[in-house]
Parts: sequence; structure tokens; C-alpha cells
Amino acid sequence: MRAVRLHGIRDLRFETIPDPVPAPDEVVLAVKAVGVCGSDLHHYLEGSIGAIQSEAPFVLGHEFAAEVLEGGDLPAGTLVAVDPNRSCGSCEWCRDGHTNLCPDVRFTGVPPYPGALSEYVAARPQELVPLPEGFDAATGALLEPLGVAIHALDLARLKPLASVAVVGLGAIGALVLQVARMCGAGRIVAVDPLSYRRQLASELGADAVAADAAGVLDVTDGRGVDVVLEATNSPDGPQHAAEAVRVGGRLVLVGIPTGNRFAFDAALVRRKGLTIKMSRRMRHVYPRAVQMVQAGKVRFDPVVTHRFDLAGTPEAFALQADYLDGVVKSVIQPGGPA
Ligand SMILES: [Zn+2]
Ligand SMILES: [Zn+2]
Repeated sequence: MRAVRLHGIRDLRFETIPDPVPAPDEVVLAVKAVGVCGSDLHHYLEGSIGAIQSEAPFVLGHEFAAEVLEGGDLPAGTLVAVDPNRSCGSCEWCRDGHTNLCPDVRFTGVPPYPGALSEYVAARPQELVPLPEGFDAATGALLEPLGVAIHALDLARLKPLASVAVVGLGAIGALVLQVARMCGAGRIVAVDPLSYRRQLASELGADAVAADAAGVLDVTDGRGVDVVLEATNSPDGPQHAAEAVRVGGRLVLVGIPTGNRFAFDAALVRRKGLTIKMSRRMRHVYPRAVQMVQAGKVRFDPVVTHRFDLAGTPEAFALQADYLDGVVKSVIQPGGPA
């Protein structure tokens, strides 16, 4: 089959590799749409993500929708989103419902488990989320990052009309903003140094925008907001979030920093008495993600700024890495638009 593999830093190649061989409990799917995620960009730009070294050559891609070919209970041709998180199901954390924290997780597109930037993948039937009428493949692929946003808001524990800042308006931030609104947020301030991303935030319903934390203090008369959700790739993101939140406020850190380290000004977070929550992927959130899209509560169209075929993947990553052409989220469509 045709696939795109990462061979090294900024080195993606469109090649032919063997078709996936399904395990007895797996079905084969034809990939229809794959979102390019910020976490994929860590592999692409740094050759690692957090403590995980990238393998070479390696197939990335964990936000995806596909068509059932044969096998399993679903009719051939069914369009599905695929939950990339295959947790063990039996450890202490899985049994407690924290499948996102399973130490034995097999996550599609994270080494050593190949991802979806290819024509075909194998997955287990219980990982498939059949898409309702009217969902196209790109919408199905976006359910995964929407799930990340839902999990972040679950951790944010917003009170009705709580003021919120979203720091970092990439795709995750753009989805966090929309889910925060659904959760009853009051004033939402969107923070991003890039003006085109601040403009996107306004389009998605942010009440105010700011280029940095000082801007959040400006629009809140120096108080700061009740809750900050941080979704940047910057080691400075958490510090900016801590500056933007009020005394006694709450931070939810969703972003993955370049270089695997971030630092806080200790006096700042200590004196404010902040509650800081780390958000890790997501739990069982696909049903709510589907409902949000069905109810028209979430817009993906302004977030998906670019589409490519499989051969265009290297171009898509280069665009994303350098923030070119107003890019927010690229979707790769193996086999053309579905
Ligand atoms: Zn992702
Ligand atoms: Zn487990």
C-alpha cells in the first residue's frame, strides 16, 4: 500500500510498504481522513515527543476516520472514526475508568505502533465509532482532537459563567474554546501571538482576544480569569497561563512543550494558590463528541484550513511546522475526498 513514513527530522517520504496484517481480533479499514496533530509535529521537528523517541521509518497519524472493508459486525463501506487508544483494560487505572492513563496503552501513531497516514489500517471492532448520517471523513477525524478538548473541560470543572482564557489557538485551543462555551463559560479570552489565530478565535465566539498574558490582565482589570486552559507547544505556555489566571484560580495544561520541559515562576503559582491539573489525552468521550457535532455545537470548518491527498503529507507538515498560509489544522485524505 501507499503510506507516508517519517525517516528523520523534517524527512517524510511517500512510499510503498506492506499492507497491514490484521490480528485475529482486528478488521482492515481503508483510511479516508487523517488530521495532522501538534503531537505529530513533535516527532517531525524534534525526533521525539516527551520521553518517547521517534522510530525511523515510522507511520504517524492518530486522528482518523476510515471505511470498513470487511470483517466485524459493521457492513462494508461503513464510515467510522477510530479511537487510537487501546488500553489494557485490566490494570488498576483502566479498571478505575482512567483508560487514558494506562501504562500498557497501545496508541495508534505513537512508536512502536504505526499510525494512519497510509491507505489501510487494522483496528479492533470495539475501537470503531460508526459515524452518523451527514458526517464526512474529515469530521470523523476531528472527533479525536474534540475528545481531547472535552477531556480538558471535564478537568476544568467550570462554574456557570466562570471567566476563561484559552492560551494557544491551534486546533486544540479552537476546540477547547467551543467546548468551554458549551460548558457554561462566561467571558472567554483567547490568547495567541499570531493575529490570524486570534481572528479565528473571534470567529468562534471568543469575547476578547489578547496576544499575551498581559492582554488578559488588561481586559480583566488586572484580576485575571477564573480558569485558564493552556494548549500551546511552548515551554513558556504554562507560565503565561499562570500569569493570566486569578488568585485561587485553576489551570488545566493540555499542551505538550517542545523539549519536554516547562517552568513556572514558583512565587507566582504559590502566592496565587493555584490548582494545576495536567490533561492527558482523553477518556471515553467519543459519544459526547459525536453528539456535539450533531447538535451543531461545534464548528470544524474554520479549524480545518487545509486538505491534502496522501502524497501531499510532506507539504502539509512543512506548512504546519512553519505556521504558513494561515494554517490551523491540515487533514490528509488518502484516496481523495470522502
Ligand atoms: Zn492528536
Ligand atoms: Zn490499563
